[in-house]
Formats: sequence, C-alpha cells, structure tokens
Amino acid sequence: MSEEIEKVKCLIIGSGPAGYTAAIYASRANMKPVLYQGLQPGGQLTTTNDVENFPGYPDGITGPEMMIELQKQAERFGTDVRSGWITKVDFTGPVHKVWVDGEKEVHADTIIISTGASAKYLGIESEQHYLNTGGGVSACAVCDGFFYKGQEVVIVGAGDSACEEAGYLSNICTKVTMLVRRNEFRASVIMEERVKAIDNIEIMYNTEIDEVLGDGQNVEKVRVKNNKTGETTEIPCTGVFIAIGHKPNTDIFKGWLDMDETGYIKNIPGSAKTNIEGVFVSGDAADHVYRQAVTAAGTGCMAALDAERYLAAKGLH
Ligand code: NDP
Repeated sequence: MSEEIEKVKCLIIGSGPAGYTAAIYASRANMKPVLYQGLQPGGQLTTTNDVENFPGYPDGITGPEMMIELQKQAERFGTDVRSGWITKVDFTGPVHKVWVDGEKEVHADTIIISTGASAKYLGIESEQHYLNTGGGVSACAVCDGFFYKGQEVVIVGAGDSACEEAGYLSNICTKVTMLVRRNEFRASVIMEERVKAIDNIEIMYNTEIDEVLGDGQNVEKVRVKNNKTGETTEIPCTGVFIAIGHKPNTDIFKGWLDMDETGYIKNIPGSAKTNIEGVFVSGDAADHVYRQAVTAAGTGCMAALDAERYLAAKGLH
C-alpha cells in the first residue's frame, strides 16, 4: 500500500548554509518548513577544516561544527530536519510535487532549492587521501589559502576560477605553481594576462599531477608529468589546490527550471525566484561566482522571505 501524500507549506532541499538559513527564516515566520538534508548532510562545508571568514566567529570554527550549530538554530524554531534524498520532482503546479528516496511523495506550496554544488577533483587516490586528512589538498583557495601563508603551493586548472585563485594565493604564498593540462588556458584573456603578470606564479603547460606525496598526514610535494614528453618532475609544496570546476547539484530539476549551459539554476535578478512560481533557489545551485558560506546564507534568507511573500500573496499563509 502506498504511503499517504504529505502536504507542507515550505519544503527546503539541501542542508548547507543556504538551506539552514532559509530554514531559520522560514520557521521563525511560522512556515513550518521541512528540510531534507540530502546525501551529504551539512554540504560542502563538512569537508572544510577551519572556517575563519564567516562573520561572528572571531576564533574560527570548523566546517562540521558550524553546520551542527546551523542545524540546531533551525531546529530551535521548529524546522523539521529529515534525512532523505529528493529523487524526482514535478513542477506542473500549482502544488509542487517531490519524491523522497524514490518512494514518499510530498506536496509543497513553496520549495526552496539549496542543493549546492560539488567541487570536481582529479580522482587520484593520493589526492583523495590528503583531502581526507585535511593535510594539504583543497578545492577552495579563499577558504584554505591562509593556512599556507609563506609557503609554496600548487594549483591545478586553467579556467577563470584557477586564475582567480592563483592570484589570491600569490598574495599569501611565496610561490604558486600553476599546472595547465593543455598548452593553453581556458580562462578569459584578461584573467590569463593577470596571472602571467604575477612574479611568483610559475605556469607549467601540458602538465598533470601524477601523485600527491607526503608523510601520510601532510603534503610535502607533488610528482607531475609532462603529457607531451612523459617526463616527470617533483615540485615541493605544502598545499595542492584543485580548481578544475564545480558541478551544481541540479540534475533532478532539468527540464523544469531555467538553467545556464553548465546547470546552474537561473534566478530572477535581485530575487531568489526561478521561472516556476513558488519555487526558489539559493546558494551555490545558482551561483558559480561567489560560492561562499556567507553568500549562500544571504541568498537562503532571500529565498525564505520571497517564499513567505509568495504564500501571503496567494492567501496560503
Ligand atoms: P572551467 O570549466 O571554466 O575550467 C576548468 C579548468 O580546469 C580548465 O582549464 C580545464 O582544462 C581544467 N581541468 C578540468 N579537468 C581537469 C583535470 N582532470 N586535470 C587538469 N585540469 C583539468 O571551470 P571554472 O571553475 O574555472 O569556471 C566555471 C565558470 O565560472 C566559467 O564559466 C567561468 O568563466 C566562470 N567564472 C568566472 C569568474 C569571473 O568572471 N570572475 C570566476 C570564476 C569562474 P581544459 O581547458 O583542458 O579543459
């Protein structure tokens, strides 16, 4: 026998800073939000060590601790936080339908999407090892660059993100070696020119990481390979930044919501609204530019306020 369909006023999908901030606002506005955490409760911040750039934590806080605090704050006002993965949606409207774990059906007057994005990694075993130890592999220079102050680092990638992050790191680190897998950049010319003009950035073309090497806990160097000549070299470094792009977690919304060519959901500028009435987006699912916890939290707040106004205008709140 199929389970009874549940009806909610506000359904929040995703449990990063965007989702929990939306939940704090929505629950304080008495929208009785239900939040599904997704596959990685807490989102990308749970893979970050210390967060030192979120206002209000003068001594810093670890990513996982911060997410526990945000969850507690959302629950304090009555958010119903559940584990579960949304597998399908139907936005034919006016009620928005979602299916949880392929089974349970929920109907929501408003939906706030905060499913985030996932950083892409090279997929080498040693890279994943030092990512997990927190000993030198990172996909976010703005988050982790400071820990490599006065040290030598390597950055992989040649898109706008890699250029931006290389520039950021060059102000903190003594030397930045940029590994470009082809013989040219993908980035816009202006970004490429900027990177080339910085003295302490060395660019190696046709070069890929073969292995990340260290003492088991911390990175000490990388072995790189020239993919034209096959020659290998070792580069001493304490940090390895992977900047080869992100993938927004928006696959289930394809065909329903307007997106750019890489899958980022388009919001109506100056709001969290999407092309579907009553469906809102916040955080990295719609943002490939800033991608910070604090900006995600800001757009989570916008989404909840927009959802509340939508409910009020429809006489549903
Ligand atoms: P991109 O997809 O633009 O670039 C990814 C880079 O990583 C490319 O140089 C690519 O190489 C390289 N790469 C991919 N896989 C590997 C791999 N396995 N090993 C080595 N190198 C690899 O991603 P970005 O995150 O840089 O940018 C995403 C979007 O965001 C773009 O549209 C960009 O313009 C935009 N953006 C804009 C900014 C701004 O305007 N300030 C700042 C940041 C991003 P290859 O070229 O060989 O494929």
